[in-house]
Amino acid sequence: MSYPVRGEEPAIIEALKVRALPEGSCDKLLEFLRLYRDAVQMVVDRVWGIDEGLSKKRLHRLFYDDLVNLGFRAHHAKEVYMYAKSLVESARGNSGRKPVLRKLSARIDKYDYKLDLDSMALTLKLHNSYEVRLRLIAPRERVEKFRGWSNYELVVKYDGKSFWVSIYLRRTVKTVKPRTVTTIDLNFDNVTLAVFTLDGRPLKLKRFKTPHRRVLTHRIWIERIQKRYPRSWRFIKGVRRAIERHGKRIRNISWDYAHKLGDLVAKLALKYCSLIVFEDLEKLRENGKRDKRLNKRLGLWFYRRMQFCIEYEARERNLEAVKVDPRGTSSKCPRCGGRLVECGYRVLRCRRCGFVGDRDVIATVNLYRKYVFKYSRCGVLGVALNAPKPDEDPSGVRGNRYEAMTISIFMNLYES
Ligand SMILES: [Zn+2]
Repeated sequence: MSYPVRGEEPAIIEALKVRALPEGSCDKLLEFLRLYRDAVQMVVDRVWGIDEGLSKKRLHRLFYDDLVNLGFRAHHAKEVYMYAKSLVESARGNSGRKPVLRKLSARIDKYDYKLDLDSMALTLKLHNSYEVRLRLIAPRERVEKFRGWSNYELVVKYDGKSFWVSIYLRRTVKTVKPRTVTTIDLNFDNVTLAVFTLDGRPLKLKRFKTPHRRVLTHRIWIERIQKRYPRSWRFIKGVRRAIERHGKRIRNISWDYAHKLGDLVAKLALKYCSLIVFEDLEKLRENGKRDKRLNKRLGLWFYRRMQFCIEYEARERNLEAVKVDPRGTSSKCPRCGGRLVECGYRVLRCRRCGFVGDRDVIATVNLYRKYVFKYSRCGVLGVALNAPKPDEDPSGVRGNRYEAMTISIFMNLYES
């Protein structure tokens, strides 16, 4: 599992999962894992009844001394109560039943282990100042990839037969300076993508079909079954199986598609050395009115998944991805900022200036303008962008220039 990290500095985190052989006896390591599990359970039991927020500070005050008295190191203690906290919180959100831990697994802070990928050796610091040395079993080439990455946390597990270690490694992404901007508009039926030069000329327009309609069919099947057995569907094996089958199809279709799309888009963006601009889906939700373009029954998760995959693939290729507020991207005229009204299938028309255009293409153009507006003002690009700003007066050279650009986008669209 790997994922891009949101925040200031773009980074990629990946887990290197390998089998680990303890040198000598594994008694102490097993003892540590059992102690760790029991300590997590103890914290879970004690905070289960507490409803108010569990701050790190409070957990520290409640449990630190006890955990250290059990023989844990300072960072072990922190990992134990934070892990317990996350278990409690997710249990409350899901089943509502108190978690009971059976598996032997421990999260270990970077201060409590030493890793040497050259000799494939790992030293873990355990309770009561014990240490254990483990040899990591993995082919060279799998490890080679992580040279120069920084490690920060690991999880050690025992599955009854062997020990497994997942080392979390992090690489900051040195993004390349973009030469173009790619905007991506996600819709129920399609994903529309447009590449612009930094001064606003369109270079490429592409449309991908989404499998959302197929997904929706499975969704509707599930709803139908649940409606027919409103109370009992959870308990009848055959019914539950049928629901699971549809659910599995949905997951497969959506992951498959998101991966392929991410790869295609990132490849294209790399070819154009492009910065990628998305709609901020969180803003879409905040804006209250769910966008008509996204089907309500599917929810936002599908769109998030597509963005996630595109963003990940882009970062793998050292490309930057940013988000802009999607408000108005498919309701404002890209030429004059006037209100657009629907006139026919997927076609919008401006009430003020008469501009007519394809809805999705208009959205990509508006996303580009939003990006320019947001970033050229802060001087992030450091390039003179003479593309028109949103809501600009319809008169003037820029408007005409913009019209030419939009027209050429449309020509491109209908040519391809
Ligand atoms: Zn207009």
